[in-house]
Amino acid sequence: MAALVDDSGKIVLRAEQDIEDQGFEPVVESIGTVVDQVLAQMKKSEVSAAGIGAPGNVELVSGTVAYSPNLRWTDKPLGAAVARRIGLDVHVANDARCATLGEYRFGIGAGTSDFVLLTLGTGIGGGIVSNGLLAIGHGAGAGEVGHHQIRATDGFNCNCGKIGCFEAQASGTGLIRQALALEPSFPRSTLVPANTQKRGSKAIRKAAQAGDPHALAAWERFVDDLARGLANVIAFVNPEVIALGGGVSSAGDFLLTPLRPKVDTLTTMAPRGTTRIEIAQLGNDAGAIGAAEVARRGGLLAAVRA
Ligand SMILES: [Zn+2]
Repeated sequence: MAALVDDSGKIVLRAEQDIEDQGFEPVVESIGTVVDQVLAQMKKSEVSAAGIGAPGNVELVSGTVAYSPNLRWTDKPLGAAVARRIGLDVHVANDARCATLGEYRFGIGAGTSDFVLLTLGTGIGGGIVSNGLLAIGHGAGAGEVGHHQIRATDGFNCNCGKIGCFEAQASGTGLIRQALALEPSFPRSTLVPANTQKRGSKAIRKAAQAGDPHALAAWERFVDDLARGLANVIAFVNPEVIALGGGVSSAGDFLLTPLRPKVDTLTTMAPRGTTRIEIAQLGNDAGAIGAAEVARRGGLLAAVRA
């Protein structure tokens, strides 16, 4: 998606296109195409810069994607290539950090100074704001909470190579895995068809809300594992708000009502009740709004300290 975002964090224009070929050149061309579609509706001189939220580890000064397991990229100069293609200054940052910045400045995190966003999707993307500063880390790797292990001995295999990572257990994909693991206990269940996976987590969430016993059992394990990870996040940074985004979070109170007391039980050192768990407000737009904020301020390092 390309979006034109105004100074108040509102999306004014947008264009969308699915990326079918994840090779570097085709992705650069797809980005160029959607940016062209937005720029065709306005004067290019009105746009100051462009920001990109990219999955993986991003070198913040060069805009090179150092490593992206999702795209299977290593050392791809995304910022420079897109800048050449679209003729604007381009700033690149990790997509989850961008979404965190978007929610922090313009969404559910506005008004706080200690904030965490966790996007529960295919994986768990995260970002941490502490004392008003977005944590970046020495190698731009801070906030990768999806890969702390919560079930190192009895968990699912994570794409990163470890066992029982938070995102292997408590992402949308984690919910599907919980349901698959429980299949032997529900021999007549048709909840998870053989080659499910694309829309699987939504189907399981809906079935749980409708009272399907297999889905409810999976949902309960999912919520247990989510609570483990959230309690760890609270132990690390005790934010004022942890916002949950991604498809699973559209369950709203069906998720929050069982989740909050489980997190409380596991919160032992930070004062209980000092971290609120809420649903994020900006949905899929958070990343684009945050990426625009990164561009407006001249890069993620400047956006953090501004
Ligand atoms: Zn992992």
